[in-house]
Amino acid sequence: MTRTLPRRFDSLAAVKDSPARPDGESQRVDLEEEFGANTFSLTSMQARLPKPAYKALLKTIEDHTPLDPSVADTVAVAMKDWAIERGATHFTHWFQPLTGLTAEKHDSFLSPTGDGRAIAEFSGAELVQGEPDASSFPSGGLRATFEARGYTAWDPTSPAFLREGPGGAYLCIPTAFASWTGDALDQKTPLLRSIQALDTQARRALELFGKPARRARATLGPEQEFFLVDEEFAYRRPDLITAGRTLFGAKPPRGQELDDHYFGSISERVLDCMNDVELELYRLGVPLKTRHNEVAPGQYEMAPIYEDANIAADHQQLTMSTLRNVARRYGLVCLLHEKPFAGVNGSGKHLNWSVGTESQNLLEPGETPHENMQFLFFCSAVLKAVERHQDLLRVSIAFAGNDHRLGANEAPPSIISVFLGDQLTDIYEQIEQAGSADSSMSSGLLGLGVNALPHIPRHAGDRNRTSPFAFTGNKFEFRALGSSQSISFPATVLNTIVAEAIDEMVVDLEGRMAEGAELDDALRGVLADEVVKFKHIIFNGDGYSDEWVEEAERRGLLNLRSTLDALPSLVAAKNAALFEKYEVLSRAELESRHEVMVEQYFYTINIEGETAADMARTMILPAANRYLSELLLAAERADDLGLGVRGVVATAKAVSGAIDELVDALDVLVAQNAELGGEEIEEKAEHMRANIIPAMGEVRRCVDALEKLVADDLWPIPTYRDMLFVK
Ligand code: ADP
Ligand code: MG
Repeated sequence: MTRTLPRRFDSLAAVKDSPARPDGESQRVDLEEEFGANTFSLTSMQARLPKPAYKALLKTIEDHTPLDPSVADTVAVAMKDWAIERGATHFTHWFQPLTGLTAEKHDSFLSPTGDGRAIAEFSGAELVQGEPDASSFPSGGLRATFEARGYTAWDPTSPAFLREGPGGAYLCIPTAFASWTGDALDQKTPLLRSIQALDTQARRALELFGKPARRARATLGPEQEFFLVDEEFAYRRPDLITAGRTLFGAKPPRGQELDDHYFGSISERVLDCMNDVELELYRLGVPLKTRHNEVAPGQYEMAPIYEDANIAADHQQLTMSTLRNVARRYGLVCLLHEKPFAGVNGSGKHLNWSVGTESQNLLEPGETPHENMQFLFFCSAVLKAVERHQDLLRVSIAFAGNDHRLGANEAPPSIISVFLGDQLTDIYEQIEQAGSADSSMSSGLLGLGVNALPHIPRHAGDRNRTSPFAFTGNKFEFRALGSSQSISFPATVLNTIVAEAIDEMVVDLEGRMAEGAELDDALRGVLADEVVKFKHIIFNGDGYSDEWVEEAERRGLLNLRSTLDALPSLVAAKNAALFEKYEVLSRAELESRHEVMVEQYFYTINIEGETAADMARTMILPAANRYLSELLLAAERADDLGLGVRGVVATAKAVSGAIDELVDALDVLVAQNAELGGEEIEEKAEHMRANIIPAMGEVRRCVDALEKLVADDLWPIPTYRDMLFVK
């Protein structure tokens, strides 16, 4: 019997030879020089635009006032010249459809002159508005294919940028994307509207406090977790290719038990890759700040310094796509899925959120928060908002990938609560009991018992990794996002619900003051009333514990365990009214998002179900059968020679039994895959949850059992041990 070299072994050989650095030399980079080099930044604008045009544009960017169309032409010419000088040949309106990804359609700057030559042209009209054929983007019923017109509209508040590839460069213009009826078909438009709503309400409050501000801005700092796997392995796994996660794979003998990867020194190849990712993102003006190894082997994290919400959301998309692209140059594949490997920590995204003005962070408590009424006002607004709209926050992070994490003891539970820490919790307890607070627990210094070491101020609140929504010093950290998701919708929800809470508290304040109360007394009154309503959302304990699930139920908090449990609340009357009132999403826009989310759930699991069946049938079963036939042959020959065959026969029996089980499980999955569950998209989604997921689970159990039985050199797909530990 001849056999070619087993595929697993040549992939290992290839991994061994893969280059650390593609060009073999280390990079020395001038950070200040490179930062923002590929953005059409304020500095480039100032240098290139006539003064009045620059001033008009600046006013739009800083104060969000509408831009005079005549200025657009001037800006377009300057932008085109800037881009062409850097080698750009094309431009694109870059937008964020409801797929959660970004989209672009390229147009050349070329314009024929009629005499056989051509010049580079770009008009204000082309800058301001585009019309991609929009019929193939998800619209959730907002647009039938026969009315496929979709428009992109320039967002001057996010800088245009240049993307470079080996094949040349092109200019990207951040845009909003809407149907011809004006309905938002993207993630950016509602985010911008919510930023506006929060700005309006926060400034109203500040006005009352006698601290008027020019603009109140939502700020976001998203932390991104991801896995890097050698491409030799990744591309031998159809499940990683089509579903982004492994659908099979037995637990390796060694997982993350030793905790030796977390914050460990980063391997050279990975560090080179990260350096390259950072450099490319620096050039795009993305202020990446930290990088480190994460908990699971092969898992990493990167985080930027926070920025204005809209820009941060654009930059987050660029971060995800740059990670994916650059990894390939190092022979790696970047996995952004929430749970690429079962039994190993999954990946999330922490969304740090705050609101500030041009001069201050409104969630900065200061040394003595009990005296900082303005801070207490805004902090209470967040608590009030989260308490009232637990369901919306839960929906904003609900999708198939995230179902693997939430509530699974490595990620926040699916119950939304707020960690405040001892100091603030104590202040709210004082307010509840006495109507106001007259002291702040002090945090003190950290004594390390070594005279030579500095005394470090201790934070008033420790960290709590188990909370989905934690106050971390001067911002809230929404910790339940999935690693692959766009941050726009969770941010849109946060901005909107906090805008509403501020609005209501301002109305209450104004009422009390109209009746003659002084500002401070009125504020105390408002806080005392609010704390009673929101206090049960505060939870500083262990969010992973079973006791919390019971306790939360006693408190009446929602526990929407999975995506399909959460999705219906998106379109609940309370939420539709909220989005309509603050002009963030119309009823139709909200319903369309709901439909798209249900649809995406269905497609995701449907693809997984089909992929699992294909792999089991065409890769796993043949391998198992081959092994069985080897065993049978061995038994037969041994018998011929009069040797004992007890061990061979026992092994053959075990393999044969495992094959029987797999075939049975596979039959069930194939039958379920052939069903749709009904006509309506909700029915199809429910079929996925109720029938496909369990059937896939059973097939997986059988495949993973076989992985432990079948000869290693016959196993057709890279194992967890290969993918997670070979770097
Ligand atoms: P911590 O150590 O408490 O996590 P860091 O300063 O390291 O705080 O910040 C973690 C993340 O939070 C970073 O991405 C950072 O940019 C972000 N962040 C800090 N301040 C704010 C803020 N005011 N608004 C939004 N995000 C913030
Ligand atoms: Mg982290």
